[in-house]
Amino acid sequence: MASISKVTVVGTGVLGSQIAFQTAYSGFEVSVYDIDAAAIGRARQRLDGLADTYEQEVAGADGDKLHAALARIAFHTDLGAAVADADLVIEAIPEVLELKRKTYVRLGQLAPEKTIFATNSSTLLPSAMKDATGRSDRFLALHFANEIWKYNTAEVMGTEDTDSKVFDALVGFAVAIGMVPIPVRKEKAGYVLNSLLVPLLNAAAELAAGGYADPHDVDKVWRIATGAPMGPFQIYDVIGLSTPYNILVQGNEHAQKLAAWLKANYLDQGKLGVASGEGFYVYRPVA
Ligand code: NAD
Repeated sequence: MASISKVTVVGTGVLGSQIAFQTAYSGFEVSVYDIDAAAIGRARQRLDGLADTYEQEVAGADGDKLHAALARIAFHTDLGAAVADADLVIEAIPEVLELKRKTYVRLGQLAPEKTIFATNSSTLLPSAMKDATGRSDRFLALHFANEIWKYNTAEVMGTEDTDSKVFDALVGFAVAIGMVPIPVRKEKAGYVLNSLLVPLLNAAAELAAGGYADPHDVDKVWRIATGAPMGPFQIYDVIGLSTPYNILVQGNEHAQKLAAWLKANYLDQGKLGVASGEGFYVYRPVA
């Protein structure tokens, strides 16, 4: 299989911009695509912001390297031009199945035959999209975590149709951009990380919402007894409380009770987590 050198990132929001920057920073030529000039304007701002973040948080990220990374990124509002010579397209558009399927139909028509497609979807299975790509042997999931320069796992998960050489090429690509690849050998909703994390977070919410133990004590026992650096409520704060709330509120009656507890005690009081300055813990005054 030809090696991957040209990468297109489709969708330049929170994750797409991080994937594009990390890939360019690792020496790859990157094209980014978003729907219109306004979205591309926001992408430029995000990428400039990421260069600043890397300068502060990534060892060895000096001005020259960061400028070179930004210079390796080309911006497009024409999908055909964005993917014209791509070896790999990484899709990071909103988590809406029909939108993703429509985008894969277009990508399948516009991209060269050689191009591999990878979805960064957190909750949709790649098999729900594979037929739309017209090349299910060259399609799989490559799932990054938010703040990829720190939380550098890349879960690689194919469908039954994915060519094993494509899977291996993506494992190699993940390493080449500084990620720790986690091969997921069979399709699994939630991959490895969320299959572990979601039950932990739900169990913690049950303990606190049920009045069994205070959030800080739940965290304490988890840290002391397992040696983990953070307890589940510290993790809630980092993720931001809105995301777990949105998931719980769509669940069964029991999940909805936990959602109501989160809303009444935290969300309704503006306690959204680290980003708002307070969640289960107080961080810093918000301007
Ligand atoms: P986001 O809303 O921040 O960004 C989505 C981007 O896609 C925006 O720039 C938007 O303009 C663009 N877009 C909308 N419609 C488009 C289209 N038809 N074609 C191309 N671009 C389009 O979303 P996000 O949080 O970056 O999430 C994107 C994907 O990454 C989702 O599948 C999500 O599940 C996954 N993901 C998110 C996180 C996270 O923490 N945010 C973590 C891992 C994976």
